[in-house]
Amino acid sequence: MQTLIEQWSGEAVVTRYDRETETWVFIAIHDTTLGPAMGGCRVWQYPTPADGLRDAMRLAEGMTHKWAAIGFDLGGGKSVLAVPRPLEGDARRGLLRRFGRLVASLCGAYQCGPDLGTTPDDMAVIGEETEYVHGYDRVHGQPVDPGPFTALGVFVGMRAALQQAFGSVEFAGRTVLVQGIGDVGVPLARQVAEAGATLVLSDTDHNRAERLATALGARTVPADQISTTPCDVYAPCAIGGILNATTIPLLGCRVVAGSANNQLAEPADADRMHRRGILYAPDYVINAGGATALPLLGRGHAAEEVLDRIRTFERTLTEIFSVAVANDESPYHAAQRRVDRVLTARRRA
Ligand code: NAD
Repeated sequence: MQTLIEQWSGEAVVTRYDRETETWVFIAIHDTTLGPAMGGCRVWQYPTPADGLRDAMRLAEGMTHKWAAIGFDLGGGKSVLAVPRPLEGDARRGLLRRFGRLVASLCGAYQCGPDLGTTPDDMAVIGEETEYVHGYDRVHGQPVDPGPFTALGVFVGMRAALQQAFGSVEFAGRTVLVQGIGDVGVPLARQVAEAGATLVLSDTDHNRAERLATALGARTVPADQISTTPCDVYAPCAIGGILNATTIPLLGCRVVAGSANNQLAEPADADRMHRRGILYAPDYVINAGGATALPLLGRGHAAEEVLDRIRTFERTLTEIFSVAVANDESPYHAAQRRVDRVLTARRRA
């Protein structure tokens, strides 16, 4: 862990060993150039505590990129609670409250929200100890579901991609394949269907895909045929690493635009898609709708204002695609440079 911290480009790591549950707690603060660090709280079992720390650092860096790319005055941060076994009931509650006190002690330097392995209800428990938590509406005592906000960001990002790839934002006459019929995939599929596209759905839980397909007049494909299914737009909304040296040569789409985190197995996959003429919407930009909504709703902004903010992703992605086309490169590189430019400008200011 010492080597990991020494070699990391980030600003700080807060570490705590929670003796009661044998959990390692890491809060990684990557870059606060734009503002206080904000990012989800992940509860997960890792092979070793160092793997949890590595994940927290990697994810915190991703949040720096996300906030900079969409023009938010927040910094990159993430927390990981590396549990030794699944924790429920009083043990989980106790851990979350002690974590909440740790977050409170940072006085806003890090703000958390839901992530893999945590729910809005978990955020409510953390919120018993600190105000620096998002994902739960304190006023109405209701959880905030980020999925529909993320779906809206993906939908408007798809419009930008359609314009770039086909010269029109129209969905009519286009086929869109949604992989993963979950919190994001369901509202996304509904919007895509309403916009008039031919919809293809896929999920490892085939019944889930079938049910929604019946409701929306769509068809389904088995999960193991996703890469080879012909479509105009492929929307990965399930797992990461699905764009790789094996799948990219098989892809039958012109556009990849979906919510899944870490879609590329490695950065070279962006170039692989570019060489095949596939337009890739960088995941950390197009999937930022939920991340945008949580802090804004937490600060009391009206829902319509939040939706308008997310709709600006269409312009952001249009700009990224234009730069990429002008440079004959993947939008992945154009987005990375945009992030560097935003951070450098703020550091100079
Ligand atoms: P979810 O768990 O609600 O749904 C995921 C769905 O994908 C499930 O129905 C699951 O059965 C299915 N699935 C899993 N593996 C699959 C595979 N190999 N092929 C096809 N289907 C598969 O998750 P979600 O909240 O909808 O998030 C989807 C993705 O988007 C994740 O990568 C998540 O990290 C990312 N993301 C989500 C949000 C959000 O607001 N929920 C925000 C940003 C990024």
